[in-house]
Amino acid sequence: MSKNQGYTTSSLHTRFSKDDAHHALHMPIYEGVAYEFDSSQDMEEVFTGRKFAHAYSRTSNPTVEYFEQKLKSVTGAKSVIAVSSGMAAITNTLLSLVEPGGNIVASNQLFGHTYAFLKSTIQNWNIQVRFVDMRNLDHVADAIDSKTGLLFFETITNPQLEVYDIAALSALAHSKNVPVVADSTVTPPYVFKSADFGVDVEVVSTTKFISGGAAAVGGAIIDNGTFDWVKSEALKTWATNFPENALLARIRKEIFRHLGGCMTAHTAHFLILGLDILALRVDRCVENCLALGSFFEQHNKVTRVNYPGLKNSPGYALSQKQFSGKPGAVMTIDLQSKKSCYDFMDALKMVRRATNLNDNKTLIIHPWSTIYAEFSDAEKEQMELRDTMLRLSVGIEDVHDLMEDFEQALLCVGVDG
Ligand code: PLP
Repeated sequence: MSKNQGYTTSSLHTRFSKDDAHHALHMPIYEGVAYEFDSSQDMEEVFTGRKFAHAYSRTSNPTVEYFEQKLKSVTGAKSVIAVSSGMAAITNTLLSLVEPGGNIVASNQLFGHTYAFLKSTIQNWNIQVRFVDMRNLDHVADAIDSKTGLLFFETITNPQLEVYDIAALSALAHSKNVPVVADSTVTPPYVFKSADFGVDVEVVSTTKFISGGAAAVGGAIIDNGTFDWVKSEALKTWATNFPENALLARIRKEIFRHLGGCMTAHTAHFLILGLDILALRVDRCVENCLALGSFFEQHNKVTRVNYPGLKNSPGYALSQKQFSGKPGAVMTIDLQSKKSCYDFMDALKMVRRATNLNDNKTLIIHPWSTIYAEFSDAEKEQMELRDTMLRLSVGIEDVHDLMEDFEQALLCVGVDG
């Protein structure tokens, strides 16, 4: 097949690793637990890693393997492992890349549960986390030292929608022998070629765009094969046996196997379907975001609009360069006060009040009082959150229906909030 094959063709035509016994065109759902061996010798070879075969579905499963294969085809990555959720992708990766006594340099703008994991849970394991404003390369450089296991950020921060200069961050990290891990949930592989911008490893919540309509919770770890793992304190022994694949070998054979956060075959089935039609959905969502963006920009009750695809957004130029001008489908609007936000949300007739991203339906949430409710106001302000801000995850509805719903809901918002 051609090297320049497009995203959708690659996804649809990824071959199975073995011919299906019944020549099924769609990967069957292998929902069993254990796999039989022809002989004890065979069994020994698989358990000692000399040969690959599925043995037990917590460690590998044919349907999940096919989903991993598809992600590999569409990203061109070196290796992929599917896990039970986006949080599992983040925790498995981070725990594999830094040892007790080491540190992580992380963005100060992160999804709430990721921030909470880094702020509390991981620190109990004697791993320090240095939260930095990644717009400032000098601050990033100052935070990195010989004990830094990785640099970590979201490709577009959720929900602040900050867009970092990813190539510059990667060049800086690599100059200090530090691998770059990016949470690319908001910018799926169709719009973001992470290796072109120096990202070594992507962690993804496949729950979002990839699941194709909020069908299943899942996650994936995508290793581009670009980092020399001998340079990683946490992986240098693994790199002796698995020179090119040390990270995924450690995850598969140790961290993931022992923490047990595996993906089920049913979940993989939904993700396989979702991955194939991802480009169509992303294009429609981006169109809707651009139209809604202009609508909100012109509305006198909306005090601020942010979508990195809009010319007035601070992230516009970098989005054009990094995400082919298709920076996902999350946008934020600000109204005059928290009360205005609640009045607006409560008046919506079609748009759903729910916490998720990239459902096919448009969703709305007030991040300050929900996802970030456990943090102090000062911490939230430090993360550049505002109680006047609403996050919209824009779906694939007919845009005039969305505008009609937003228009009538804005009429219910008083002028002084
Ligand atoms: N990363 C980002 C940017 C997210 O928005 C989320 C969830 O909303 C996650 C990670 C966690 O994903 P999951 O809910 O699949 O664990």
